[in-house]
Amino acid sequence: MSSLLLKNATLLVTMDHQRRNFPGGGLFIRDGVIDTVGSSQDLPTRADSVIDATGLIVMPGLVNVHHHFSQNLTRALPEGQNEGLFGWLDAHYPIWARIGPEEMYVSALVAMAELLLSGCTTTGDFPYMFPNGSSLDDEIRAAQELGIRFHPCRGSMTYRVDPQFAEDEDHVLQDTERIIQTYHNPSRYSMCRISLGPVVPDLVSEDLLINMLELGRRYGIGHHTHVGETVDGIKASLEYFGQRTVSYLAERGWVGPDVWYAHCVHINDQEMDLMVKTGTGVAHCPSANMRLGNGIAPIRQFLDKGVNIGIAVDGSAGSDSGNLLAEVRLTMLAQRAVNGPKGMTAHEALELATLGGATVLCRDDIGSLEPGKAADLIGINFDRLEYAGAAADPFAALAFCAPVGVDVSIIDGKVVVEAGQLVNVDLPAVLSHHKRLSQRISTGVT
Ligand code: ZN
Repeated sequence: MSSLLLKNATLLVTMDHQRRNFPGGGLFIRDGVIDTVGSSQDLPTRADSVIDATGLIVMPGLVNVHHHFSQNLTRALPEGQNEGLFGWLDAHYPIWARIGPEEMYVSALVAMAELLLSGCTTTGDFPYMFPNGSSLDDEIRAAQELGIRFHPCRGSMTYRVDPQFAEDEDHVLQDTERIIQTYHNPSRYSMCRISLGPVVPDLVSEDLLINMLELGRRYGIGHHTHVGETVDGIKASLEYFGQRTVSYLAERGWVGPDVWYAHCVHINDQEMDLMVKTGTGVAHCPSANMRLGNGIAPIRQFLDKGVNIGIAVDGSAGSDSGNLLAEVRLTMLAQRAVNGPKGMTAHEALELATLGGATVLCRDDIGSLEPGKAADLIGINFDRLEYAGAAADPFAALAFCAPVGVDVSIIDGKVVVEAGQLVNVDLPAVLSHHKRLSQRISTGVT
């Protein structure tokens, strides 16, 4: 048995059913699970480790529901820098085709380091190219080393693409099943759950789309793909299938609480209604949607209708960043830009990034600080430049004020960020390694 006591937080935000906050609050953790939450004087006084959270806002760890880790090797690439999604992808594919196991592993370390330091405690990833012997195993190894809760999605791209970037469909299914059998842990407090899906529905055959769903449902895992990211994508769907992407997917069973779509910028009312009815979720990626000129997803309308929504940083080239707290702020600001000042509150945005993401990933054991939930939490020092003058509503300040790094992060009851530094990795060494790999794949010179 191991125990951890965190006490004296300036404000402890629980996100529980009553949305209780405790000034001077804390929590007691036993074996990675929250045992007690409340005022510090009501908590047990002894524990194996004690953290004095004086000066910190403590809240549930953020959940990132969509990413492409390895894109951080090619941020702000000059080629395709001012193109839309398809032109941008065309510029990147030949470079990404040089990625191997070392690049997958090191870029995953960098991506998850950036996520951890910006408040994320559970993340997905969605690689869909596995060149030169790279595999999802490389990312899972990195996640295990960093101690982050991980939901990798075994992506695929097999059809209507340049053959050098396409995978064999039988291999996709075999490798996905191998990954599930090796790593998927369905139990409560699981640190690794696998999901699967095509990069977009039109870049795999209909057979593979159907077989993937059958495989995923057999193992009870999640299903994920990009939907409605661009107008061109909708046009492609109409051209190939004679119908929009959501109805093509729905007719093949790709809807349900175990399915979530990334982006959903271009979604109509009927499609929203179907998503509500089936419990299909959304990964909202505001930076990438703006960066690539795709628009602003109708998150206010999704919320009003009752669609499950999580927030995501998206690929580190599509957004050129991987800062989840920054995406929370942008989610709120973009909805206000479109819908007026009542378009989204700070609390709503922070809730999407915690409880919202947990629901999208089908998890009821993360997203809030309550007895019986996993001990995933972050602490942010409020006595800093960015929050000067914001003491009247410190929780809202996390979304309103400029995004900052976290000072403490605890995942599964273990400290992974302490005094603003990652505990489980030598970040300067990883960054220097990453720089060499980035140069190598960008120039093609080994
Ligand atoms: Zn994406």
